[in-house]
Formats: sequence, C-alpha cells, structure tokens
Amino acid sequence: MVSELTHFVQGEKVHGRSGVFGDVYDPNTGRVQARVPLADRTETEQIITDAERAQVEWGSWSPQRRARVLLRFLQLVEDERANIAKALSAEHGKTVADAHGDLQRGLEVVEFAAGVPHLSKGEFTDNAGTGIDVHSLRQPLGVVAGITPFNFPAMIPLWKAAPALACGNAFVLKPSERDPSVPLMLAELFVEAGLPPGVFNVVNGGKEAVDTLLTDPRIAAIGFVGSTPIAQYVYSTATAHGKRAQCFGGAKNHMIVMPDADLDQVTDALIGAGYGSAGERCMAVSVAVPVGEETADALVAKLKDRIAGLRVGASDDPDADFGPLVSREALQRVDEYVASGVEEGADLVVDGRGHTVPGHEEGFFAGPSLFDRVTPDMRIHREEIFGPVLSVVRAADYEEALRLPSEHEYGNGVAIFTRDGDTARDFSHRVNTGMVGVNVPIPVPIAYHNFGGWKRSGFGDLNQHGPDSIRFYTRTKTVTSRWPSGVKEGAEFTIPVVR
Ligand code: NAD
Repeated sequence: MVSELTHFVQGEKVHGRSGVFGDVYDPNTGRVQARVPLADRTETEQIITDAERAQVEWGSWSPQRRARVLLRFLQLVEDERANIAKALSAEHGKTVADAHGDLQRGLEVVEFAAGVPHLSKGEFTDNAGTGIDVHSLRQPLGVVAGITPFNFPAMIPLWKAAPALACGNAFVLKPSERDPSVPLMLAELFVEAGLPPGVFNVVNGGKEAVDTLLTDPRIAAIGFVGSTPIAQYVYSTATAHGKRAQCFGGAKNHMIVMPDADLDQVTDALIGAGYGSAGERCMAVSVAVPVGEETADALVAKLKDRIAGLRVGASDDPDADFGPLVSREALQRVDEYVASGVEEGADLVVDGRGHTVPGHEEGFFAGPSLFDRVTPDMRIHREEIFGPVLSVVRAADYEEALRLPSEHEYGNGVAIFTRDGDTARDFSHRVNTGMVGVNVPIPVPIAYHNFGGWKRSGFGDLNQHGPDSIRFYTRTKTVTSRWPSGVKEGAEFTIPVVR
C-alpha cells in the first residue's frame, strides 16, 4: 500500500494542500512505497509565520531549560532507535546497521548542543574604562532553515537543528523528498520531549519550498547540505537576500597510500570507506592513490580479492555489506560513469554493472566497481560519482600524490596511510582540503569539533557542529555600561578613548 506522508507544523502532522506529490521508493524493490506532499509558496510561508510566533517564547527560555528538552529528546530517540533505523534503511537503502550509525552521529551533535549554557556564554570586561564595563551576549537569530540531502536523513537534519534550537532559534527543515519519513519521526519526538509547538517544523517539498525559504525576509539563516551546483545556488540566493548561509556540497575524497603503509589495514579501510553505504557518503573515499608501482600492484591485487567476497544485498539483510542505491536515476548515473571510465581508457578491474539480488530483481542495486590506471583528467576522477566505484590513480612519488587532492576542485576530506610521522605531518599541513585523516579513512570530526570542506565542497565562513555551529546560529551583541557614579560632568565632544 502506498502511504501518504505529511508536513510537520505547529507540533502536528499536517497534510499537504498543494495537490502536488513526489514518489518515495523502496530501493530494494524499485516500487513506490509512499507519496510525499510538495509544499507550495503559500504553505511554506504559513509555516514560517507559525515558526516566527513560536520563536518568541522559545528564545526567552534560559539556555539550561532549552538544553533539558534536548536531553529528554535523546532519551526518547534512544527508546525509538530500532524503529527509526528500520524506517531510514527502508527509504534510503543503507543497511540497518549503517542506519543506526547515521542516527548516532546525529545524536552526538544533540549531546554537544545540550552543552549550550556553557557554549553560548558571553564575555565580560570589568573596568574597560574608568567605571565602564563591557559584556557581550549571544542571541538567537530568529527563524532559521535547514535544507538537507538524502544520504543522511537523520544525521544532517540533527546537525543543523540541534545547535540552532539550543541557541533559541525556531527551525524549519526542508528534508530530501527522497527519504522524508525519519525527519517526521524526529519532529514528533521533539514535541514529546517538551519543545513548544512551532519551534521545529518540517516542510516537505522541492524547488518552490526551497526558493520560498531562500527569499522570505523572515528567515535569518540557511544551512544547506547537498550537491555542489545546488549548494552554490542556495548560497548565492540566500546571501543576496541578506541571510547568513553555510552550504556544503559534493566531494571527491582521495586516500594516499605510502609505500610504508600496512597494506592489509589500507585494504580494509578502502573497502569500508569506498563501498560502505554504496558509496553514497560525502566522506566516502572514491580515489586511492598508491605511491610507487610496487605499492599500486600489491594494493590492486588485494582490493580485487576482497571485492570478490563483498555481499550486496537488501538493506534489511543483516549479512549485506551494503544495500541498493537510492533511486533508479542514481543507478543509471553510476552505470554511465563506469562506461565513461572504460571509454576514456581506465582499466576496469572489477565491473559492478548489472548486479542483481535474487528476489529483488527490480531493486536499485549496483555491485562494487574498481578502476586502475585512472588519470587525473578522466571524468571518473574529476566528478563525484556517488556510488560504489573506486578509482586507483597511481602516483610516482609523494609530491605527485599530494598534488592530486590539493589541485582537485573539491576539498572535503582526504586521508594518508603511512607509518612515517614526518610525512603525515607534512601532508596534514600542506594538503588543500578541509578535513584530513591520518590512518583514518573517513575523517568525519567528532561532534565537538567543526565539520566542513574547502573549495567547491563548502560555501560560507563557518562550519557545521562544534564551536562554529554556536557562532553560526547566534549573533553577538556588545553592551558598554556605566553607572551614575562613574559619569563625569559635562558634555564630551571628542570620541571617547582609553587613557
Ligand atoms: P541535492 O543537491 O540533489 O539535494 C539537496 C537538497 O536540495 C534537497 O533537499 C533537495 O530537495 C534540494 N534541491 C535539489 N534541487 C534543487 C533545486 N534545483 N533548487 C532548490 N533546491 C533543490 O543532493 P542529494 O542528491 O540529496 O545529496 C547528495 C549530495 O550531497 C552529494 O553531492 C554529496 O556529496 C552531498 N553531501 C555533502 C555533504 C557535506 O557535508 N559536504 C554531506 C552529505 C551529502
């Protein structure tokens, strides 16, 4: 049966009124499992109006009282964890075990944001001038919006919402129309945890809903995560409309393999980081860069062996290493990239095209593909594939390996595997990329550090979670005060200076 999903407004699930719907698929079977309403401008504006009203009271709560809501939310999600992970897996296609990880990495940012009483403390200077004190406050922005991608339907909405709410803002989430159920489940739990109705809202939709959020003057800030062309569009439109914006885009993450690295560890790391979640992660490793022909030959042989044992299966199969891609279009795109790699002359060592899973013949499954002897100018190296395709680009030496991620247009994550501390340190300092792993293949920083890519992987000045998120979701006000006993008689006509 095809169910009808809703929006979440004023603390309740609300049916769409636009009459326009999107299809939500079960990627395991290729069948439509739900219809999601796509909000029009009027519906989206109404949600902003409700959020604006709700924010006034929420923003007046003490930070500690707001933090308690987040702490209760954590407990409620814990109780519902299994159901949420199952629903996530069934719409996205990642395995249930991986769906637990998606949720968990989101909850870790909620835990961080619950420290808001400490994190948002202002600064104070006593006696900055005679009898004059100065202090700064961090105040909420008002109503802020998050526009999020399909590939982490729990984690990224929570990365955006938790710090925004903790800082006293109301939040309008526009999740991906491909897997919108989990954000709706989280919205209900926020209300159960004591969040006043209207403070956290979900507007489902496509371009019309997004454009309304980007242009409505009542939205103070936009947090976006998705592909680079849309990130750039959202950033330029939001900032042109006077909003604060942080927009994170696509990626092409390299892993440098030095000749001294432990190749068994490297192979484990590459298999997990390249093929986990069917490669649909912005921090997936899609390019391996072995240094020297000997390293490359040995690595490709090991990868080929390990890939033969990989199990691609339905997302609820506990033995599956990874599940289907999110959509038929994603599957076609991956197949086209594999074909383009062959056309451009790369060596296709393992061909994952045409993979079928018995009993799920119509599912969106792609098997793992491995290319060797990829060159930097090939499309499979230049562009983000977002599928289970790993490319090996052989580098003659360390300097050549360092140049590949540094000169790439994306700059999200990068890793180096080596036993040599000098090389690792040099690499960490010189590589032109936002997040670096040393013997860590997917260096997603922990919740209390900042997350963000460079170059065309990130637009805006402040990063996600960590201290930057508190800065992004607050504005500082600086108060200079003096009491009557400190006031000198007479008017001052020159600018006051400290003597
Ligand atoms: P996407 O760009 O297609 O969609 C992201 C959001 O933008 C969705 O909510 C979607 O509804 C909306 N959107 C899509 N087209 C739009 C348009 N023309 N106008 C206005 N809004 C539009 O991205 P996706 O396919 O959902 O997600 C995958 C992408 O996200 C990959 O490129 C991946 O690398 C990237 N990603 C980046 C990070 C990061 O932190 N850098 C994290 C996760 C995913």
